[in-house]
Amino acid sequence: MAKIAINIATGSLQQEEIIVGIDLGTTNSLVAIIHPETKQAVALKEHDSSSMVPSVIYFDGQSNVTVGDEAKKKLISSPERTIFSAKRLMGKSYNDIRNRSAAFSYKIIDDNAESLVKVQVGDKFYSPVDLSSYILKELKHRAEHILKTPVNKAVITVPAYFNDAQRQATRDAGKLAGLDVLRIINEPTAASLAYGIGISREENKVIAVYDLGGGTFDISILRIAGGIFEVLSTNGDTYLGGDDIDQAIVEHWKKELGISTEKIAAEPSLNQALRLAAESAKKQLSVTDSYETTLEDYELKISLAQFNTLIQPLIDTTIRSCKSALKDADLKASEIEAVVMVGGSTRVPLVKKAVGEFFGREVNDTVNPDEVVALGAAIQADILAGNNKEFLLIDITPLSLGIETAGGLMDVLIPRNTKIPAKASRQYTTQVDAQSGMRISVFQGERDLVEHNRKLAEFNLSGIPGMPAGLPKVEVGFLINADGILTVSARELRSGVAQSIEVKPQYGLTDSDVEKMLLESITHAKDDIAARALAEAKTEGEQLLKTTERFLQKNAELLTKDELLQTASAMQALQLSITMNDKDLIQKKTEELNEISRPYAERIMDEAVAGAMKGKNV
Ligand code: AMP
Repeated sequence: MAKIAINIATGSLQQEEIIVGIDLGTTNSLVAIIHPETKQAVALKEHDSSSMVPSVIYFDGQSNVTVGDEAKKKLISSPERTIFSAKRLMGKSYNDIRNRSAAFSYKIIDDNAESLVKVQVGDKFYSPVDLSSYILKELKHRAEHILKTPVNKAVITVPAYFNDAQRQATRDAGKLAGLDVLRIINEPTAASLAYGIGISREENKVIAVYDLGGGTFDISILRIAGGIFEVLSTNGDTYLGGDDIDQAIVEHWKKELGISTEKIAAEPSLNQALRLAAESAKKQLSVTDSYETTLEDYELKISLAQFNTLIQPLIDTTIRSCKSALKDADLKASEIEAVVMVGGSTRVPLVKKAVGEFFGREVNDTVNPDEVVALGAAIQADILAGNNKEFLLIDITPLSLGIETAGGLMDVLIPRNTKIPAKASRQYTTQVDAQSGMRISVFQGERDLVEHNRKLAEFNLSGIPGMPAGLPKVEVGFLINADGILTVSARELRSGVAQSIEVKPQYGLTDSDVEKMLLESITHAKDDIAARALAEAKTEGEQLLKTTERFLQKNAELLTKDELLQTASAMQALQLSITMNDKDLIQKKTEELNEISRPYAERIMDEAVAGAMKGKNV
């Protein structure tokens, strides 16, 4: 994507800026570009080394930070100073990872379960954003070293189920690393692009992306139509991958050779050596049908048939996830038009076979499964660089976005399935006289009452000049940028008072949460409609009580005693019906109070108008 251009003013040669694609992975990360000559996506690597940079960070206690292969070596010698799987912590609170904290050998701060996780190394604290930024910095340096030109712009991929907070955290990590993150895109979308699926605007397809990496498994069902990638469903297991395959082989050898758990506990390096041998065995069994080596006095052996039996349960688990994903997308396996393989573990022949059989078609596995996501990110970067004008990536909102209005109701500004970037605005007003502030509470979800939806953010528009209720015009605007990050603004149009907030929720939703919310909105639809009707009736009743009260305060002496008594009793009845939460009764009592007050309200208005007109020539 590096292009040479001539600066007309100076006549000098200029190299156009490079935009790299980055796969920021749980186990490994890598960076790719579109080769300027071949126009093909390529992963960057130094000479003969691998394109993959282990997502591992080592802090030496002084101020040195090492990332990648060198850091990975420290996992055994300095586990408390070596951070792996930082991606699992992105946008998470301690509460979110409490059950899994034993899986981390380093120290995770848990003094405030609600706030975002931090990692302690020595006397220093690091957020997952800091940690990811070290990995991104390393990738940036690597790319600059290989390309011999500054790299300041990137497209970074994230799992499809990442929520706003996790996407924002990834973007912040990029910023910290000195990268202008032009776009955050979904990993399955990138993988699809790497296979050329969805590049053409005319293409309409439903595909499955099966991603089995070192430590995670994701299955995503995507619908691609007119350049829009819609995630129909995702499923998976955030703790299932190649590491489990290795562990299964280790367990097999331990059993076969009678290596006791006590011996392993006394000799941790033996376990590590077994794991490394198991990984070699696994890789070799992708191409041969047996593996043999010696370790100390042990003869480690495994045949392909034994290996396949060992891993069958793991594969079955992934196939069950595929089934669930299809069910959630309301599709049959036969409706999937392509199956894209991602992640090093999809090199295992039995994995390919099982997935192919499940979907009833041959899987797409021609692109290097370790690189496919980064390559797709590079293709997206190329599109953003304007080199592929045919195509523009569009995502859609998974859930509706709106604000809370009177009665705790959800007022949707951007409905679910809206293409992003998206913009919407609506006007609101105050409910009481001289109201100087308005609380804007932003929610996400499909239910009619905000209490059933998820609060994303809240802010106060203050400094509204004193005006009677209903007079201020507060315009609330929602803007979702191309990364799916929402900015909410509020402006009182008469005074110009304004306030805005970028929505960075601390805790987000997983895809299964989104699905649960959608499902709930359907199963509770009837209750929701009733609840909305009740809330609306209550708001109307309360408003009428307020205006009647105000009217009486001003004009009580113009009413007959009878009118006063009748009004007081109708107000009381309406108040009572509101506390009883009986919608029909509230509506009836609202109507009755209206009936009683209408004649004298009209009479007094007429008199006021007549009085005002007296002595005036019209
Ligand atoms: P990823 O997270 O995509 O980088 O995947 C890395 C995982 O792929 C690790 O568990 C590797 O052991 C595994 N892997 C790499 N090459 C092979 C292979 N030839 N056969 C089986 N697994 C592999």
